[in-house]
Amino acid sequence: QALAMLLDKQLHRVGTQHVPAAKIYSADELRVALSKDELINYYQPKVSLSIGELVGVETLVRWRHPVDGMVFPDQFVGVAEEHGLIDELTRVVLQAALTQAKRWQEIGLRLKIAINVSMDNLTSLDFPSFVSEQAMLAIVRPQDVVLEVTESKLMKDQRASLEILTRLRLKRFRLSIDDFGTGHSSLAQLRDIPFDELKIDKSFVNGVHANETIRAIYLASVSLAKQLRMEVVAEGVESRDDWDFLRQTGCDLAQGYFISPPMPASELPAWAAGWTQR
Ligand code: C2E
Ligand code: CA
Ligand code: CA
Ligand code: CA
Repeated sequence: QALAMLLDKQLHRVGTQHVPAAKIYSADELRVALSKDELINYYQPKVSLSIGELVGVETLVRWRHPVDGMVFPDQFVGVAEEHGLIDELTRVVLQAALTQAKRWQEIGLRLKIAINVSMDNLTSLDFPSFVSEQAMLAIVRPQDVVLEVTESKLMKDQRASLEILTRLRLKRFRLSIDDFGTGHSSLAQLRDIPFDELKIDKSFVNGVHANETIRAIYLASVSLAKQLRMEVVAEGVESRDDWDFLRQTGCDLAQGYFISPPMPASELPAWAAGWTQR
């Protein structure tokens, strides 16, 4: 497991950070990937800080490229958004994730399942009924489906997005504001959209125990979330020091390499069985 973690970290860095010219794929290549089912979901545990129980997972898409190997979402999600493929991509990811949730339920693993959606997704008015249908088919309650929303750079039709989010909320799906505190996740969104969960961006989590500035932003975010009666999730928890600090400051859930890297669905049951609170 330590090796898996290292590998994921390593791959992640190679995929998104340390190689500035990481390949960005074309819309045509992505169309082929979609038609050939080359996208695959990884899942990262979200655990409660108070009692350390596994509460849910976040679905993170990967592309098993026949030549290039594992490709990370930063290299193709933006392309999907720009070329009208994000709607299909989201539906594929969501359907697979809910089917997976059903299988886990069948072996006694009840998990909340989170999916990433960008505001751009939210242009087709039948999206809420698609989500409902899929949840019904998988026998997953809406309260157990979390939609992690990021504001996108394009922001085509804000009114439509708002309406769709409101409809999803009325159907009792949980809405989470992702990457909170960064450029595309703003206070205006908190004002306008009835979120249930606030996800503090990893840049305000990583190193929080040691850095005063980060800590001030983190604490203000927690306080804001509490006043709005939202659940608070910290992403990007990489160290015990940060984990301990989060526990002492009222954060509800945590996610990060310190707990587990994202993993294929097949590995989750064994991980869950072996998980003991740090
Ligand atoms: P995100 O939603 O903020 O997801 C968290 C990212 O941080 C993931 O990268 C995850 O693997 C990584 N991560 C997890 N734990 C740690 C940690 O302890 N330290 C650090 N440094 N990183 C950690 P990933 O999987 O490469 O995804 C990148 C972004 O791509 C996601 O950011 C999300 O915005 C987007 N994405 C992923 N899957 C989908 C999808 O199905 N649909 C859409 N629209 N976007 C997706
Ligand atoms: Ca997310
Ligand atoms: Ca983030
Ligand atoms: Ca993001």
